[in-house]
Amino acid sequence: MSNLSDVCQRIYERQGQQAVLDACTGVGGIDWKFCDPCEVASPMDPDDDTCLVCGTLHKIPDDWIQASACADCVMVSANGEGASEDWDAETYGRNVAGHMVAIGDDYGFSWWSCDLCDTRLAGERFHVTLIPHRIPRPMSPTKA
Ligand SMILES: [Zn+2]
Ligand SMILES: [Zn+2]
Repeated sequence: MSNLSDVCQRIYERQGQQAVLDACTGVGGIDWKFCDPCEVASPMDPDDDTCLVCGTLHKIPDDWIQASACADCVMVSANGEGASEDWDAETYGRNVAGHMVAIGDDYGFSWWSCDLCDTRLAGERFHVTLIPHRIPRPMSPTKA
């Protein structure tokens, strides 16, 4: 929240989305990014990268990791199984430890190695985001 977002919120309440877009057009220091809820490119609050129209956060937190993953890793991330026989479960486990894997777009066929299992076999690659688990794990129960 900043003064700017306060002002934009007031404009939005009185005059709607287009009035905010008009008010921000040509204002220096404002980034425009496509905003899903707004369905158009919207001005971003320079302080915290929230949409000045709807307040959606657009910043990717610093501890999220962008990576590319092979089809096997995506299968396992999504379903917990389904990898081919020579897939390296150990390397995958080490690379994603403590993270949730959010699966994004299909990059198509590529020779890049997979960031999750390190395979160098060419194949389908997908954009993935590793999101750290923020909720502390419950203590494992101790045996009486
Ligand atoms: Zn928005
Ligand atoms: Zn992989």
